[in-house]
Amino acid sequence: MDLTRVIKPWKLHPHKTRTFVNATIIDPVSGELIPKATIKLSEGLISRVDIDGSPSSEENTGDVIDLSGKYVCPGLIDCHVHIAVTPGEADLRAYKDMTERISLLRQPHVLKTMLGRGFTSIRDCGGASLAMKEAVEEGVLPGPRMFIAGMALSQTGGHGDMRGPHDDKLCCGGSISGISRIVDGPAECYKFARDELRQGADFIKIMGGGGVASPTDRIEHVQFSDEEIKAIVTVAKNAGTYVTSHSYTPQAIQQAINLGVRGIEHGNLLDLETAKMMAEKDCFLTPTLIAHVMSKQMNFLPAKGALKNDEVLEKGLRAMKMAADTGVTVCFGSDLLGPMHFAQSKEFSVRSKVLSSLQILQSATINAARLLMREDCLGQIREGFAADMLVLDRNPLEDITVLDRAEETILGVIKDGRVYESRLEGLKREI
Ligand SMILES: [Zn+2]
Repeated sequence: MDLTRVIKPWKLHPHKTRTFVNATIIDPVSGELIPKATIKLSEGLISRVDIDGSPSSEENTGDVIDLSGKYVCPGLIDCHVHIAVTPGEADLRAYKDMTERISLLRQPHVLKTMLGRGFTSIRDCGGASLAMKEAVEEGVLPGPRMFIAGMALSQTGGHGDMRGPHDDKLCCGGSISGISRIVDGPAECYKFARDELRQGADFIKIMGGGGVASPTDRIEHVQFSDEEIKAIVTVAKNAGTYVTSHSYTPQAIQQAINLGVRGIEHGNLLDLETAKMMAEKDCFLTPTLIAHVMSKQMNFLPAKGALKNDEVLEKGLRAMKMAADTGVTVCFGSDLLGPMHFAQSKEFSVRSKVLSSLQILQSATINAARLLMREDCLGQIREGFAADMLVLDRNPLEDITVLDRAEETILGVIKDGRVYESRLEGLKREI
């Protein structure tokens, strides 16, 4: 009797060895197609890639799947999600009453559907827990590999403080408000940044400026003082990781990156001077435009938030193009809350108005892998990399919007060498 399987009956079975032949690999580095490739997966890794089209018989161990006429794309990475704000309510106001328990029971649905859309990795920018990340890793439930911030850090009255102006209840140091933790002063910043890392955060997220959904701040507010951000950056750097900041305006972005923050979320009001600074400092920008598009379409925000939303939506596309043209590394993000999660892949179409298909695919593969500090194992179909891949019946480099229509164009989703979705002959879904 395998006692480990008795103790953890959900334990995944050993990896199957599989060889895909006649595949056309999409290389997001060069933007080229590699035809007639053979890809061997074993032990959860891409163990071999042959591009001469003639695998030796020694490689034909395990299942052999013919992918003639199909494309193999690296698994997609979404760098800005909130799995804790699950579907279930129609608008933001209702989420005040959603308890953590309700959220936890609904998160598996969010994770499974993300995987179905081809996202084999996600970076959660506030709200996801280590327990959920471990549950996915262990095989308790299917989902993308997760990189989590734990709770985002916000100042009192900042973007993470969900109390309205008439709420006079004090929010003491470290209290949790929605997907954030309220901290004020360098001492609390040190303490709770360290505590997020202790509780499994892979990186630290701060609310460095005003936001759309928050009830008592304005977009143009700069949040946290230099001393507070410095404290958080020190904690992250000492632990070998980084800080990313929710910032819309040039002023908030400049404050953050001058103090050592490595990533900027949203950045819709970016100007040229700030874009140049970001490129020079090798900072990452993760725009999340679909969140603004959908919030408007679905009337998700109260009136005040809707006004703020209109302002940043209009400027967001221009900012993303400016960043890409200036040499900033742009990553893919969606930031969808509540009932809007279904629209995650529509970010591809939104971006296609100003960026090339290759630029957009890079944002969701190699650029994202670099932001996650996993460029040596994620984002490419390469020997030694994690076996995260999609089988497509169309070429996303020709038209990136094929990724918007997952149910039609994605024939297979493989994560960590295991088949999570398949409509291909000879490739059975394992999980
Ligand atoms: Zn967010």
